[in-house]
Parts: sequence; structure tokens; C-alpha cells
Amino acid sequence: MENNVLVEVKNLKKYFKVGKDATLKAVDNVSFNIKKGETLGLVGESGCGKTTCGRTVLGLYGATDGEVLFEGIDIHKLKGAKKREFTKNAQIIFQDPYASLNPRMTVGEIIAEGIDIHGLYTGEKRQERIYHLLNLVGLNKEHASRFPHEFSGGQRQRIGIARALAVEPKFIVCDEPISALDVSIQAQVVNLLIKLQRELGLTYLFIAHDLSMVKHISDRVGVMYLGTMVELASSKALYEKPLHPYTQALLSAIPIPDPDVEKNRQRIMLEGEVPSPINPKPGCRFAARCKYAKQVCSEVSPELKEVEKDHFVACHLFNE
Ligand code: SF4
Repeated sequence: MENNVLVEVKNLKKYFKVGKDATLKAVDNVSFNIKKGETLGLVGESGCGKTTCGRTVLGLYGATDGEVLFEGIDIHKLKGAKKREFTKNAQIIFQDPYASLNPRMTVGEIIAEGIDIHGLYTGEKRQERIYHLLNLVGLNKEHASRFPHEFSGGQRQRIGIARALAVEPKFIVCDEPISALDVSIQAQVVNLLIKLQRELGLTYLFIAHDLSMVKHISDRVGVMYLGTMVELASSKALYEKPLHPYTQALLSAIPIPDPDVEKNRQRIMLEGEVPSPINPKPGCRFAARCKYAKQVCSEVSPELKEVEKDHFVACHLFNE
């Protein structure tokens, strides 16, 4: 493993049994790594497995197969003190700031929970740390004694960020942290996450379905479709020259802020139904909606291959 890699995901699978003979393959043989200080964006339509992937990477779900290495050690095999150390180092920011904060706890108590569990600070130092964290996320010490319902959506997400930072993590899974917020607030939260990353040297897995925001924050982006990774490239390469037919369709749906360009924008309409991730058919999972599909596509699953430097695609169009 390269020594600048913090997280390495190898052939990860997360299946759920649904009924007697049915298996939902939420994450199916997904591999990627995240370098220290980097943001990897993970995008795809709802139900593509990106949130399940993020939670399995954090160990919140056990893996059906495959490995998640954090600093070279498989997190699914950790026990006792080593496991506690990992839960301190790897945190999550949830999608819904309304649901993820305990309404009966003050903001100070919410932020201090992790500090207390891991025994990081006590007494005055603990109080100072809470105030410092509030400051860091753009709030102030008067907010510590208030309750979550007294805050706006954007402010609650800032509290969620302060809670994640309280235990001095190295890695944060940002699970659609802006999806529940007004568009006007989304950019503020993304800019705060970028600022914190620079100041604290954080590494992010940033999960989203909003492709334009992912571009703004990510160094590299992975695109998921029905439990599989279909394309992985630098943010620049993916947005300027998407290679997978699904990525091309997703990107063509983003409105362009220039009215002249927007008028002539060619949208690629996705045809066919989204197949079910339960007992998926063999072959490429995108085949039913892909205008380039050929015989082999419904027979053999395409593997993720490097087709240009650091640009990986899973599609038979690139196997010739
Ligand atoms: Fe389309 Fe075939 Fe490529 Fe799948 S493998 S995206 S069906 S061309």
C-alpha cells in the first residue's frame, strides 16, 4: 500500500437478505482508496449503495466480504482498544441535521459526548474545547447552552460537524451532509468543510447525489450504479471527459449557469427502468438503460479498469 493512503477498500461487498431467496446486493465488489488529506466524492442516484458503502467503510455495518484497511489494518477485524481508537479516528456527519441531534441535550452536551466517551478532556479544558469547536464551525460559546430546535438547518449541520470534530478524527464520512439544506446554505457548509480540511488536515469521503457540489469539494470522484463502481477519476477528468455512459448521462443533467450555453445543452435521457438491486441479473447493471449495450453487456460484468492514467471505467466499450 502506498504510504500516503489512509483508507483502502478492497473488493467490498455488503449484501442484505430480503426474504427467503432474495439478496439485496447494496455494495458489490467495490474497490477504491483515499489518500491522506484528500476528498473522494461518491455519487450516484438514490439506492445506488453509496450510503451503505460509506457506513460499511466506517464499520457501522459489517462487511459481507472484502476488506476496509485504515492505516493498513482491516477495521472489520478490530476489537477492544484498537476498535475504540478507530471509532475516534473515523467519524460521520449525517444527512439530516434535524434527526441526528438529540433534542433533549444542549449543544454543549451533544458536542461533549465523544470527548467524554474517549476521555479526552475534563473540567475547564473540556469546556474550552467545546467553545473552541463552536468557534471553529462558525458558532459561538453562547450557543453551548441552547437546544437543537433553536437553530436553523445550516446551524444544526454546523453542530453536527463540531460533534464529529470533537474527538480529533483523521477521517470523516460526510453522508449527504447538504442534501437536506436550502440551496443558499449548501455552499456555506461545503466551504466550511473545505476550510476545516485545510486547517486540520482531514480526509473526507463525501457522499452526494448533487454532482455540482461534489465537483467543488472533491479531488477525485467515484460514480456508483446499483452497488457497483462504474467510474473513478480526478474531479477534473470526470467532469471534463466522462467516459462511462451512465456518468455522461448524470453530468448532462446538471444545469449550466450561462443561459446561452444552457439553451443548447444536450441532455442524455436515461431510458429503461432502474433494475432492482435484489438478485441482479448477470452482466453490466446499466445494460437495460444503455444505448450502447451489446450482447456481451448482458452476459459479463465489466471490471473497473484503468483506461487513461488514473481514470478507471467499468464498461465493455473500453475492453476492445
Ligand atoms: Fe453500456 Fe455495455 Fe458499457 Fe454497460 S458495459 S455501460 S451496457 S456499453
